[in-house]
This record gives sequence, C-alpha cells and structure tokens, in this order.
Amino acid sequence: MSLRVINDIPELADVQGLTFVPTMGALHDGHLSLVRAGLEYGEPVVMSIYVNPTQFAPGEDFETYPRPVEVDLEKAEAAGASIVFLPDHEVMYPKEDLPVCPPLPAIATEPKLEDCFRPHFFTGVCTVVARLLDLVQPGRMIMGEKDYQQLRVLQEMVAADRNRWPEVQVLGSPTIREPDGLAMSSRNAYLAERDRERALGLVRAIEAARSQDDAGSAEARMCQVLEDHDLRVDYAVVRDADSLLPVTGSPSNHRALIAAHLDAVRLIDNQAL
Ligand code: AMP
Repeated sequence: MSLRVINDIPELADVQGLTFVPTMGALHDGHLSLVRAGLEYGEPVVMSIYVNPTQFAPGEDFETYPRPVEVDLEKAEAAGASIVFLPDHEVMYPKEDLPVCPPLPAIATEPKLEDCFRPHFFTGVCTVVARLLDLVQPGRMIMGEKDYQQLRVLQEMVAADRNRWPEVQVLGSPTIREPDGLAMSSRNAYLAERDRERALGLVRAIEAARSQDDAGSAEARMCQVLEDHDLRVDYAVVRDADSLLPVTGSPSNHRALIAAHLDAVRLIDNQAL
C-alpha cells in the first residue's frame, strides 16, 4: 500500500501544514467523509487513529472500543488519506513529559450538555487534541458536526491560544447518516438489529422539533418522541449554535442537540433547526 503509516514522533518531522483528521478508528463513512472534505483543500491528508484513554470515564467502553486497525488502514487509504499517524500510548502520553490540558474554554463547561453528563470528557479531548496539534502541526483540522459541542470546544481552544497554534483552522463537516437517518457512529456496532428502530428516535425527535414554534415546546416534543422510543434522555435541547447556551428571541441560528441511552448504548445527534 502507498499509505504512509507513522508511529513515532521523528517521522513527523516533514509533516507540517497539512490537512488533519483526528479519529479513534473503527472507521465508517462519517470519518471517511472528513478525509474527502480535506482533499478539497488538496493532498496530502493526514489522519490519526488513537483511542484516547483520558476521554473515557471508569466504566465507559475504553477496553471494548473496537480497534480493527488493518481494515481501518485500508479504508483510510481508499478514501484518499496519504498518511496515518498511529501512535501508541507512550508516544501520546510519555511518562517523563505528560501532556497537560490547556485551559478549557467556557463552551466546555457552561452549556451543561456533554460537559455535564461526561464531566471528564472535554479535559481528555482537549489534552489529546492539543498534543496531536503540537505533533502534527497541521494547517487545518477537520472535525464532524456529529460531535457538535466537541467541534465548538476545539474551535474555541485553538482560538484562545494563537501563540501555540498560530495557523490552524478548525473546520466542521456535516454529519453522515445511514440510509434510515441514523447518524453514523463507531458505537452503532454495539446496536443489535432489533435496536435500530428505537435508535431512530433521535433523528425523529429532531424532525418533530422542527414543527414547533418555540424552543420550549420543541424540547418537550423531543423528550416525548425519545420516551416513545423507550430511550433514556440525558438532554434534548434547542441552543444557540455558537454559544450552545439556552436561546432567547427569534429562532435564528438554533441547533437541536440530543443525548440519550438505548439500554447500555449512549447515542448523540444534533441538527441545525
Ligand atoms: P471519533 O473517532 O468518534 O473520535 O470521531 C472522529 C471524528 O469523526 C470526529 O471529528 C467526529 O465528529 C467525526 N465523526 C464521527 N461520526 C461522524 C459522522 N457520522 N459524520 C461526520 N463526522 C463524524
């Protein structure tokens, strides 16, 4: 294969200013769409694959998270990636120089969305992405809108420290869905075929929110649809798409965001309204 696989830091010396797509692997078409979006800026595109332990809480699925590395490399190459950075734990978290988390932007603590239900999450994500940005030194990083608060947090993290990351742009790319509308996710592999109908509750809830006149009734309607699908709701809200804070006034720049549990599987989705 012509794909270049880099495992260690010295090999990154000539990789700078490129388009970067960080992932945790178990690649699906959502991840690959980010590579394709990156190719529009020209080759080469660098992808990273690393299952970051610090963004999982004890009891979450770090150990069981799927890691089909060989298949992932084939998919990355077929999508047009030129380089995959595939570090091990020692490279990402060297004992002698453990990476620290940059100051968390307000959007990582104030909305009370993922920050509330996964309180360790953005500390882990910001730590690992800051380290990846320092190592890869890309010109732009492409992330999915699927993880919308994560996208906004990383945009704010980078904007807050232009001395450290003077050049990098953090760009969002639309959510890729299964034919039935379910947002693609590596964790969909945990869903049994019979769960699929219930999992569609998220996308149906957001559709139902569209026909409501105000945020309050949209949120109530979303909760009802989620409960009808026997899903346990963490949040189902309408927020300002930039700040992710509760909305006031006319419905412009609003985004519906949902996190809900289908038994042991936690699903998230969001869409512009
Ligand atoms: P992950 O491997 O889950 O950490 O995701 C890596 C990147 O892929 C993140 O920027 C995600 O937002 C993005 N991503 C995951 N699922 C999708 C999807 N269905 N559509 C578009 N991007 C996605």
